[in-house]
Amino acid sequence: KKGILIIGAGGVSRVATVKSAMNMDTFEKITLASRTVSKCESIAADILKNQGVKIDVASVDADNVDELVKLIQKVNPKMVLNVALPYQDLTIMDACTKCGVDYVDTANYEHPDEAKFEYKEQWARDNKFKEAGIMGLLGSGFDPGVTGVFCAYAQQNLFDEIHTIDIMDCNAGDHGYKFATNFNPEINLREVSANGRYWENGAWIETTPLEIRVDHDYPEIGVKASYLLYHEELESLVKNIKGLKRIRFFMTFGDSYIQHMNCLQNVGMLGIEPVMHKGVMITPIEFLTTLLPDPGSLGPRTVGQTNIGCIIEGIKDGKPRKVYIYNVCDHQECYKETGAQAVSYTTGVPAMIGSKLLYKGIWKNKGVFNIEEFDAKPFMDELMTQGLPWKILEL
Ligand code: NDP
Repeated sequence: KKGILIIGAGGVSRVATVKSAMNMDTFEKITLASRTVSKCESIAADILKNQGVKIDVASVDADNVDELVKLIQKVNPKMVLNVALPYQDLTIMDACTKCGVDYVDTANYEHPDEAKFEYKEQWARDNKFKEAGIMGLLGSGFDPGVTGVFCAYAQQNLFDEIHTIDIMDCNAGDHGYKFATNFNPEINLREVSANGRYWENGAWIETTPLEIRVDHDYPEIGVKASYLLYHEELESLVKNIKGLKRIRFFMTFGDSYIQHMNCLQNVGMLGIEPVMHKGVMITPIEFLTTLLPDPGSLGPRTVGQTNIGCIIEGIKDGKPRKVYIYNVCDHQECYKETGAQAVSYTTGVPAMIGSKLLYKGIWKNKGVFNIEEFDAKPFMDELMTQGLPWKILEL
């Protein structure tokens, strides 16, 4: 038995690991490793109780390639699923090439000192992956992830030409706090407080943070204020969806979230440069993360739903066509099934599905790939049965 090695033990990992344990006919054996081994043990204990599956745990500092290599050699898995933080993408990718095992992640590499969100350094490892004869699947979460699969499915099955794509991400969940983030606060706040950007007619157009707002009617949820952000899947979809004229990404934020974020931004609490405080260097956004509720603790108290989807316009059989492909997910149902809320669930389930398609060799290649480069159908079928069913509306 080879098995899967899952790295990271936060909210997304909890869901991906539980879901992998529900698919043992594929994965055979699971090892969960992270910096704080007690978090792995807690997930493992819940899985033993609820799924009756025993998984192995280990501790690892995923910033350290040698430590990773030792762990991978010891565990000897068929593949590694990286659900730690974006800062660890490159070290884990390098350890995978050294050991000759396949790699999957859910977010693009982020340098701790620069908020860039780009694929450059991961794509640059394509040759090394080819030489090692292994495959890397980048961005197998929801966005990036399922949104790319929706676009690929549309390109492969619904359209002759795609002209515009709007990715619409709505979290209509309520956790009862005045301010909290649904996933890692540092990554979340870096993303939202950065300049917006979209792509039109071959060029990137930059906006100031949250400059463009639309009030969008989300199916099964209702009208919500949505703001244009830059989001990492835009970079790969622009390359991989042929004939595209425009692509944008919108996310909902409540007024309270925006007020708090603006205030924190204005006083410098979102800073990523260390400052001297009473003789100690501290990074403001890291300190803020210490103060904010742990996203993992939001599960029991979050109610409501998410709706993430793509509105795609183009041509089919010579006629204009516009479709809306989306998934609606309920926070409390996710919590009952996995112990985590919908933001972790909508990421962890696709992380497991991408891993499953690699593990079974249904998606197979050598090099580094984004998710929309494969046949979308098997992924779409898995979404239907693994807890993230989708719908298509003709508009
Ligand atoms: P959490 O902060 O809850 O969990 C991160 C985990 O990684 C923690 O267990 C942490 O360990 C571990 N970790 C951090 N640094 C190291 C290290 N150096 N070595 C070993 N382990 C480490 O994050 P989430 O679960 O919310 O997110 C996980 C990933 O999913 C992130 O990359 C995030 O960007 C991505 N994501 C993707 C989405 C998508 O749709 N594509 C949506 C949401 C998230 P410790 O507990 O010790 O700190």
